[in-house]
Amino acid sequence: MTRHTPREERIHEVALVGFGPVGQLLSLLLARAGHDVLALERWPQPYDRPRAVHFDDEIGRVFQAAGVGEQVRAVTEPVPDHYEWRNRDGDALVRIDWSGTGPSGWPVANFFSQPELEAVLTTAAAGQEGITLRRGQEVTDLQEHDDHIELTTGTGETFRARYVVGTDGANSFVRSRMKTAITDLGFFYDSGVI
Ligand SMILES: Cc1cc2nc3c(=O)[nH]c(=O)nc-3n(C[C@H](O)[C@H](O)[C@H](O)COP(=O)(O)OP(=O)(O)OC[C@H]3O[C@@H](n4cnc5c(N)ncnc54)[C@H](O)[C@@H]3O)c2cc1C
Repeated sequence: MTRHTPREERIHEVALVGFGPVGQLLSLLLARAGHDVLALERWPQPYDRPRAVHFDDEIGRVFQAAGVGEQVRAVTEPVPDHYEWRNRDGDALVRIDWSGTGPSGWPVANFFSQPELEAVLTTAAAGQEGITLRRGQEVTDLQEHDDHIELTTGTGETFRARYVVGTDGANSFVRSRMKTAITDLGFFYDSGVI
């Protein structure tokens, strides 16, 4: 059968499916270690709504290893004293001592806006040799071959890589294609984002 869909001839070392914060950070860590990374992201633009708000000192150290320590510090706020939740009468509902510096040398608690943090990571990735980002490419199929995996996207294009990493968040397509099990411990709670 004749192939009509475009196929990139190059075989990348690692393909990341999804370019949220985990894919952005992993792309920097891999590329800075000399690896050739292809990132395929479904949406044409970064998602602009705040979601995650907090990371600890160990994650600060990972940002540092990815070469963005100073830039990340510029968009985060450490907790000066106690972290508190109050009701409308001002009564403290939750009070946690998250002050000070952790063993990794970063503040124990760092607050941020996810779009700002992602902007730091995507700017760094854009300037990092070894990272190819293709937006508007939803991965819809993965085919494993002897020495590579072929990734097909919704545009009909195909890409190839020696390794694929599922950085596609909750409800991961990549995980759904892996022969692996999930253990559900039945944890559930109603949550609100404040
Ligand atoms: C409403 C809401 C509130 C939240 N509040 C908090 C909070 O208060 N604190 C906190 O720590 N965390 C919070 N989170 C969670 C936080 O946003 C996530 O933990 C974080 O975004 C996970 O990053 P990720 O890179 O793993 O996944 P995601 O951010 O989900 O990124 C995955 C990326 O993969 C892409 N993708 C998915 N499938 C494909 C595919 N087949 N092909 C190509 N690309 C694909 C997606 O478009 C997306 O860009 C919240 C999440 C939501 C939805």
